[in-house]
Amino acid sequence: MNDLEAAAGLIREAKDIAISCHQGPDGDALGSALGFGLAARSAGKEVTVSFSEPFVVPDNLRFLPLDLLVEPDKFPSEPDLMVVFDTGDQSRLGSLVSNSKAAANLVVIDHHVTNEGFGDVNVIDADAGASALIAHRLLDLLGWPLTKEIATCLHVGLVTDTGRFQYSNTTPELLASAAAMIEAGAEPAVVGQKIYESVPFGYLSVVAAVTGRAVLEPEHDFIWSVMVEEDLAGAGIEASAVPGMIDYIRIAREAETACLVKDLGGPVEVSMRSRNYVDVGAIATRAGGGGHARAAGFTYAGSAEEAIALVRDALADG
Ligand code: 5GP
Ligand code: MN
Repeated sequence: MNDLEAAAGLIREAKDIAISCHQGPDGDALGSALGFGLAARSAGKEVTVSFSEPFVVPDNLRFLPLDLLVEPDKFPSEPDLMVVFDTGDQSRLGSLVSNSKAAANLVVIDHHVTNEGFGDVNVIDADAGASALIAHRLLDLLGWPLTKEIATCLHVGLVTDTGRFQYSNTTPELLASAAAMIEAGAEPAVVGQKIYESVPFGYLSVVAAVTGRAVLEPEHDFIWSVMVEEDLAGAGIEASAVPGMIDYIRIAREAETACLVKDLGGPVEVSMRSRNYVDVGAIATRAGGGGHARAAGFTYAGSAEEAIALVRDALADG
């Protein structure tokens, strides 16, 4: 399934490239899409980048070069070549699913272990810590050079998906990739501060509400909490300004598995993390979502309590 050469072949031949990533993009999704898009534009391609409604760039990613980004309704409806980054299954393209189905050629670049390969060409490497790393391999193969802007985008993907080079997916190759990004002009201190230390003040009260509500269930080695609309309204901030809330829950040493449910009006969104051995990717897949063994998620049509019960039951079943 690992077809980097075939992907490079299609990309080299293309005049126009339509690039996307999963809905509700994170640093790796948007960083890979924009970084690769900028490189393709420098190589003379006509490039558009977009992602599904709700078309909101998370607050902490707005410092990225966003010039290539267009609203999803301006995205080519029948692209000659569509390249999709960091998207574990096709439904995660949201309102751009139809565009991906109409594409003459669809290339999928991803590192989710649950990805079954929904493209004509699939470059899926579950051992890659970030999709940005695969994007870098692809640029190298194409012979397309890094610029400061490209490197900044890809660096964001490498930093965020490895928890600032902390998780087990931090490999020598990934660190070498980050070194190349810094060599090309990415500034770790700027990226670090923009991503992790630029929250609006109201974020602190959301952290207080969510951590204050956390429940530890020692019998299941499990900690969970819920974020509700009132937390955001009370703080006067938007959902796009509160990424990373699961990271405050997961740090309790008493629990192997952590879960945060965002109950913000629509279907609830469930984030899961595990420390050492629980396969949250498998739990998410059974619930219609996906992800990685140590970080995964799903959306759920029932209540937050029911979503927590689903995870608890999966943990109890082993
Ligand atoms: P997060 O909890 O940060 O939103 O997501 C953790 C991981 O699970 C990411 O790799 C993300 O792509 C994946 N993930 C989160 N929600 C979903 C979902 O609804 N479906 C799928 N397939 N993957 C998800
Ligand atoms: Mn990723």
